[in-house]
Amino acid sequence: MVLSVAIRKDKPMTGSMAVVGAGVVGLSCALEAQRQGLRVTLFDRDAPGLGASFGNAGYLATELIEPLSNPATLRSALSLWLNPKGPLALPLRYLHRIAPWLLRFVMAARPQSLQRSRAALLQLNRESIAAWQRSLEDIGAPELLVKSGYLLVWESADTQAAEQHQRWLNDHGIQTELVQGARLLELEPALAKQVHHGLYFPDAYRVSDPYDLCQQLFATFMARGGEFIQQAVTELTPTSDDVAVTSENVDYHYDHGLVCAGVWSRKLLSQVGLEVPLEAERGYHLTIPSAASLLNHHIGSAERKFVMGPLDSGLRIVGMTELGGVELPPIKRRFEVLRHHSRQLLPDLNATSLTESEWMGHRPTLPDSLPVIDQHPDYARLCFAFGNQHLGVTQAAITAELVLQLIQQQESVIDRTAFKVTRF
Ligand SMILES: Cc1cc2nc3c(=O)[nH]c(=O)nc-3n(C[C@H](O)[C@H](O)[C@H](O)COP(=O)(O)OP(=O)(O)OC[C@H]3O[C@@H](n4cnc5c(N)ncnc54)[C@H](O)[C@@H]3O)c2cc1C
Repeated sequence: MVLSVAIRKDKPMTGSMAVVGAGVVGLSCALEAQRQGLRVTLFDRDAPGLGASFGNAGYLATELIEPLSNPATLRSALSLWLNPKGPLALPLRYLHRIAPWLLRFVMAARPQSLQRSRAALLQLNRESIAAWQRSLEDIGAPELLVKSGYLLVWESADTQAAEQHQRWLNDHGIQTELVQGARLLELEPALAKQVHHGLYFPDAYRVSDPYDLCQQLFATFMARGGEFIQQAVTELTPTSDDVAVTSENVDYHYDHGLVCAGVWSRKLLSQVGLEVPLEAERGYHLTIPSAASLLNHHIGSAERKFVMGPLDSGLRIVGMTELGGVELPPIKRRFEVLRHHSRQLLPDLNATSLTESEWMGHRPTLPDSLPVIDQHPDYARLCFAFGNQHLGVTQAAITAELVLQLIQQQESVIDRTAFKVTRF
């Protein structure tokens, strides 16, 4: 039995809600709205779970409380970008479009903003596992959350960086064990000998498989009377009485509207007078169905900056931050970078008989690394939940609870000020 930290409403809500976007965030919100008593219609131009929520690593990275924009990232950005096997890519043809965002990104590293974002991330991430436990227990599928542990590894023989990181994590209430030699081998026998040491996070969770998770959330949503309309939403018109959702030239009216359209939320917000600096951080994956048993945990490489881990669909290898917008097709050589790094750390992957699938997705990222969880400043019936960057799976269930508490004007255990849509 999971204790609820959410402050619940005594009386169920009545009325209807449209949720735009059936990724892990939209699906979590749609289910939470049903739990609170609303009749919910979910819109997506595709089948559910085929956006960023499809091919991510499925790791609940609650320890990632440092905003992406920080002095260390800024210091290393140029060398990471210039390294052809590095994790950062910025296609030149997109540079002029991303420049204003980059400026805001740099500004977000100023001490005061950094501190504010870190505190907000810490709060969100701290509540995220319990929120998932509540959600998955409610749908009768607690097994979708796996207490798997996580290992962050270094190849360099110098343990100073790991020790320093361990102290920093400890100061923020995150427990780790510094492992090397026999202990490292015991945890992950298949890792290459060149992996010297690691920080082991025994309390870390992953989901069994991110796409499967979406499928199960969706199945429950439908079984509970939800409606799904597979059409692109082209316009939102909020008033003080309702929200009109336009798709295929038809207007549908609801008591509430909620935008959870991932990186594509920016366009929908622009139509209702709100400009948000939301950009796509394109990430890539390789999935090798027959190789899941090679690893026991998700493994992050501190130096190569990629992650690999076992999922129900296979061994998933993810990485790259490519600031390339939503229109460019995937760039093939990024898959080669992932192939190179994963084979270095896991020599068994050099077997030529392994078949892989390739995928690219768009992380929805704001310059301060925080999501938007808010209402329209002039039309409270239109709400927003998007922008969870690298942490959308981690934060989906808590984001859903927060946005429904907001709609019901309830207090929340988390201060929502940092997630305002007008903060930029
Ligand atoms: C390589 C990679 C690895 C990652 N690994 C992790 C991880 O291990 N852990 C973690 O927590 N996060 C991870 N993430 C981040 C995570 O995947 C995202 O933050 C999350 O999936 C975002 O979910 P979402 O529901 O907001 O967006 P999406 O899943 O992108 O969903 C948005 C939906 O909106 C729909 N939509 C858009 N516009 C419209 C419209 N106008 N009308 C109708 N529908 C519309 C789209 O079709 C889409 O289905 C990773 C991301 C990538 C790319």
